[in-house]
Amino acid sequence: MKITDVKTMILQAPLEQELGFSQAYFGTRTSLIVQVSTDEGISGVGESFGAGNVAYANQAIIERVLKPIVVGHDPFAVEVLWHKMYNGIRDHGQKGMPLQSISGVDVALWDIIGKTTGQPLYRLLGGKFREQIVPYAYGMLFRRVPDLEADFAREAEGLVKKGFRALKMKIGMTPADDVRLVKAVREAIGPEVRLMADANHAYTPQVAIPLGRRLEELGLYWFEEPIAPEDYEGYIEVKSALDIPIAGGECEYTRWGFRELISRRCVDIVQAELLGLGGVTEFRKVLALATTWGIPIIPHVWGSSVAVALSLHVVAALPDYPGALIPVQPLLELDTTPNPLREQVAKEPLCVEAQVARQGFVSVPEGPGLGVELDHDTIRRYQVA
Ligand SMILES: [Mg+2]
Repeated sequence: MKITDVKTMILQAPLEQELGFSQAYFGTRTSLIVQVSTDEGISGVGESFGAGNVAYANQAIIERVLKPIVVGHDPFAVEVLWHKMYNGIRDHGQKGMPLQSISGVDVALWDIIGKTTGQPLYRLLGGKFREQIVPYAYGMLFRRVPDLEADFAREAEGLVKKGFRALKMKIGMTPADDVRLVKAVREAIGPEVRLMADANHAYTPQVAIPLGRRLEELGLYWFEEPIAPEDYEGYIEVKSALDIPIAGGECEYTRWGFRELISRRCVDIVQAELLGLGGVTEFRKVLALATTWGIPIIPHVWGSSVAVALSLHVVAALPDYPGALIPVQPLLELDTTPNPLREQVAKEPLCVEAQVARQGFVSVPEGPGLGVELDHDTIRRYQVA
């Protein structure tokens, strides 16, 4: 079996209302879908992380740099191809877009292996530790409204009514605004629902530490990306000063990047982004590192149906750590803010929110590979490049 082609599709869906986080507001949702074809008629699908116009840069890297490296090779040779791609690009970037691009191709290769062997991805990863994947609802992004506290409180209440028992909200405006927003959400949902807050690296340790103490008082489950991802020493400062678990890692890449984050104990929870860090092949190394240092992984998820399906397989295949009669279960990050690409890119939608409403958890897809066939009507409707 040989790879014959690599194609990319940038999908963009305009939003009715801009959404924001601590770094920017955005008015469109973007996904870069990767399709790898073979001479046996089987093709695999992947996706590369990278919001907005970053997708155009990743598209060029995949089509101009990576495609010539992989075409003609055996798609089952994921290790060989990963190292060929990385060696081909290392001198020009060991983090960021080059790795996001490699990730999209790598995931498509795993999908080909699954489709060729008739096996779902979780089986290729060594089996599933759990049948029921419990998601946390990621909502409460900034909006340009007069009363954001009331807006957040309403949205959080709505998510709890939909069956979610864990929520994540954005912070990172100013510490005073953050405390007001978290208080409003906490009051709306009560003390029982788990609540996490994500600052998207808006602060320095000197600001994040006193803010973290306030968040502790409000019973937060974790404090996400308090500071800049490259400031490993700062992470150690923040983590040492606070009891609240510190989460991070969505802006980290490859085993060598995660070696710093993990071996220096910068975080309590590793948020590995499979579509960024180097795909499934590299994720397995990061998982080995994380369990070696005793730090749990809860993957970061931000993308189309492809990203969600991939995460369901991976969360199912995460080992119980440290293992117990009643082990702590990893959560699925589930974005609940408007994005038609999250459900419609798959011909058979995953219906994750409907599953949560019905049963309180999401089941793992059982089809071969990722279990996702692309919906060509959706592609035609949203493709911009
Ligand atoms: Mg985040």
